Amino acid sequence: MLFDIDGTLVRRAGPLHREVLEEAARAVTGVAATTANIPTQGMLDGQIITLMLREAGLSLAAIKRALPAIMESAQNSYVERCPDLTKKVCPGARSVLHRLARKQVRAGLVTGNLSRIGWMKMERAGLKQYLQFGAFAELADERRKLVAHALRMARREGWITRHSTVALVGDHENDILAAQANGIPIVSVATGVSPAADLAKLNPDFLIDDLRSFPWQELSL
Ligand SMILES: [Mg+2]
Repeated sequence: MLFDIDGTLVRRAGPLHREVLEEAARAVTGVAATTANIPTQGMLDGQIITLMLREAGLSLAAIKRALPAIMESAQNSYVERCPDLTKKVCPGARSVLHRLARKQVRAGLVTGNLSRIGWMKMERAGLKQYLQFGAFAELADERRKLVAHALRMARREGWITRHSTVALVGDHENDILAAQANGIPIVSVATGVSPAADLAKLNPDFLIDDLRSFPWQELSL
């Protein structure tokens, strides 16, 4: 089972994530860029950094050169400063992960977060123990490619076979599109910023208010 992080497992994790991206972009390029005008939900960190620096006037080539150093710097400051997130865990998230673990179903992350930011969020939310692997922002420039990475990884390790139940759980329209592009079911949760009515327009396989209504039976779990 694959999970998005923001709006799906934790929500309102605070402004720190945006702050470290802005600070790192400034430290590396000398350009003061802001995420204020960027709809960061559902986006990958690399896309957010690229957009804000484009908006600040930097060329794509210059951004590409600076990106690895910005990603490194942003992750360093995030892991140093990440607050306790146990109160930010979405309703039902812990119990879904716990129950999957009891059923020996592997759970992994597919997130636009950079890897050390994503893992740190899970650690501070008290959920890290339930998650065995992940596909993070460094790996691709689009979410559908992250899903493909995660699926490849799980197949290679033998965690999913033809008979396994595979699905993506996410709160954003982009999660639905990424699952559909990879031919796997999507469980859409309305715990992020996207209203359920907007998610419904993309015909997710399952649309639930929050993870307390996880479709165990329908997924044959
Ligand atoms: Mg999300």
